Amino acid sequence: MTADPNCIFCKIAAGTIPCTKLYEDGETLAFMDINPANDGHCLVIPKAHFPTVFALAPEAFAAAGRTVIKVASAVQAALTPDGINLLQANGPGAAQSVLHFHIHVLPRRQNDGLSINWTPKPGDRGRIAEIAERIRKHL
Ligand code: 5GP
Ligand code: ZN
Repeated sequence: MTADPNCIFCKIAAGTIPCTKLYEDGETLAFMDINPANDGHCLVIPKAHFPTVFALAPEAFAAAGRTVIKVASAVQAALTPDGINLLQANGPGAAQSVLHFHIHVLPRRQNDGLSINWTPKPGDRGRIAEIAERIRKHL
């Protein structure tokens, strides 16, 4: 399994740095975030080191996804929040601070004051289509 000796989440996965563990299986680990944005904020990681989604093995994403479903369901049952955001950052523009792929499971309450939402407003149809065309060329 790939690991980066300087990566904090690799150290947590290896057990050399402690965490408040929720769940683990062969490929993934779920643990409480040390700086929770709300009660119940936790993280799911593949144990293998992938910095971002761009380097991620599809099997690792699938395994992390299975654990996210399990953990998000447990958070919902235990804390009955009004909702849960799954969040995942890639790169500095997305405010990624730990370069080991991870998914935030973030319980939300109505009016909890977290500012990760945006107000939907209609886009320009022509611009949407033009940007979709640019993306499709790389698929
Ligand atoms: P990012 O900003 O990369 O999307 O999220 C990284 C998350 O990892 C942050 O929410 C941060 O609080 C959490 N974090 C960073 N270092 C540690 C640590 O040593 N232990 C735990 N449990 N969480 C950490
Ligand atoms: Zn790592």
